[in-house]
Parts: sequence; structure tokens; C-alpha cells
Amino acid sequence: MLWPVITIGLDVGGTKVLGVAVDSTAPATVLAEERVPTPEGGAGLVDTLLEVATAVSTAAGPAARVGVGVPGLVDTSGRLHMGPHLRKVHELPLAELLAQRCGLPVVVDNDANCHALAEWAGGAASGADEALVVTLGTGIGAGIIAGGRLVRGANGFAGEPGHMVVDPNGPPCPCGKRGCWERFASGSGLARLAREAAEADRLDAAVDLAGGDVDEVRGEHVTAAARAGDPESHAVLDEFAGWIALGLANLVNILDPAVVVIGGGLVDAADLLLPLVRAQLAERVMAGDRRPPVLLVPAALGERAGAIGAAVLALTDP
Ligand SMILES: [Zn+2]
Repeated sequence: MLWPVITIGLDVGGTKVLGVAVDSTAPATVLAEERVPTPEGGAGLVDTLLEVATAVSTAAGPAARVGVGVPGLVDTSGRLHMGPHLRKVHELPLAELLAQRCGLPVVVDNDANCHALAEWAGGAASGADEALVVTLGTGIGAGIIAGGRLVRGANGFAGEPGHMVVDPNGPPCPCGKRGCWERFASGSGLARLAREAAEADRLDAAVDLAGGDVDEVRGEHVTAAARAGDPESHAVLDEFAGWIALGLANLVNILDPAVVVIGGGLVDAADLLLPLVRAQLAERVMAGDRRPPVLLVPAALGERAGAIGAAVLALTDP
């Protein structure tokens, strides 16, 4: 785009909607922002998105386009088929309804795809035409940039490696299958590994940090204890890093990205975790000793990434 255009990005979370207005020439620079609680139901969601879009546009100036990121399965027409973290929202033609209400072109995609677009346009994957952005939170989200474009797939459902099965006999996943990568390599995967280690009396320092209650041990207790030098907690983190590396190696073998960006809540422990992942990734990736090391970096844009990426989505959508 040759001239600056104000674009609105709206990021729908399970608890809040964050809206930003950005300038097309510097999308990582936020001109205005607004956040409100996520309402129940599809009609309420459209009302709230209109309210947030109006607020940021009033503050930043008239906008030309709107992008929306939602946690769920979104097709290329902008229809949300299911959103497990949104109450009473399913089969919602969100792009069509919001466009009718605001009178602007509206594009909708999965929130992890938006996150990837943000890191690609102005974050840790800037300038990379081949990039993989993986968000490790309660589950795993991902977005794939290939050939300088977001990979959306035939229906819009591409980029869901969190549900790549890494153990067919593994624990059940909310998606209905068993042993999905996100059951092992997300924040909840770390919590499960920690609980198992604590129940086997292999994690005393982290249990102490959790107030002595094995059932209360979380990932942050493990990372805090590991940071303080506890070898048992470090061993659990290393096991966790192995699960992350297993999935990343599969993805690197398929995509050969120039950069892999890790985002989400676990970024707070990136200084501890990423060196462990890098070491195991080099061993697991095909011909790891005969190719350049995979560039593995933490995400740069923080909690606004989803909203910024939604704006980038609107800017880059044909
Ligand atoms: Zn799954």
C-alpha cells in the first residue's frame, strides 16, 4: 500500500475484546486502543465489536478496513463455525454481520493466524517470507507464513499443528482426539508433567513454592524453582522442552521456515526454555547436523499481537 490508511484490528478473547487502530505504514505502532469484556452470544459479540471499532476510529480517525481475530474455526468467508472459548457463539457469519453494521470491508480469521501476521509484519518474524509462529498457552495456536503469505488452506482451517497427534494413546484432547501435540507441549502440558513428577516425589522445590500442595503445582512453580537452581525442576522443563521440540521438528521438516517464533504465556520463561528446545530440536530435525540451525526466537509484540495482526489481516487481504 503506497499511502497511509487507518485500519482497525479487533482481537476477541475468552474474557475481553481488544481493539486497536493502526497506520498501514507501521502496523506495530498502535494509534488508539480500547478493551471491553467479551459478551455472551453472537448478537452481543457483533454489538461489542461495533462499539470497540467505533471507539478506536473516533480516537484515531476514519478507518478504511476492519480485521477480526477470534479463537475458533473460521472459514475463508469469515464465518465462525465453532469457538470453544466463546460462550453461546457458534455458526456465526461474523464478517458479513459486522460489515453490514459498520459499512466497511471486514475480514475475520483465527486468532493464532492473526498473531502470526503481527509478528511477521512488525515483530520477531519481520521480513521473513517463510515463518512459523507458535503460541504456547493453555493450548497451542499457530500461523504459517509461506511465500510471504499467510497459509489459510482450502477452507481457511490450515495452521492447527496443536492437534497434530504425537501419541495415539495419549491423553484426551478437547477436540475429541487423543494425544494431540497441545496436550503435551502447552501450558497445560507442562502442568501435567509437573503434577506427575510431584506425585512421584520428584519435584519437592516446586511443590514447596505451591504451598506444599501437590495438586496446586503449576508451570510457573516449576520455572521459578528451575530458575533458582533446582535440578529436579530443570529436568521437568527439559522433558517439556522435548515435547515442544518433537512437534517443531515435524513442522520444520515440512515447512523449512527461516524463523520459528514462540509466543504465548510461556514466553515469560523463554530464557530458560528456548535453549533446551533448541538443543533437542537440532537432534530431532532431519539432517540437523547438515543444515543451518533453526532460528528459534520469542515473540516480540506481547498481548496486543492478536489485535495488531487482525489489522494486518485486513490490510493484506486481497
Ligand atoms: Zn486435539
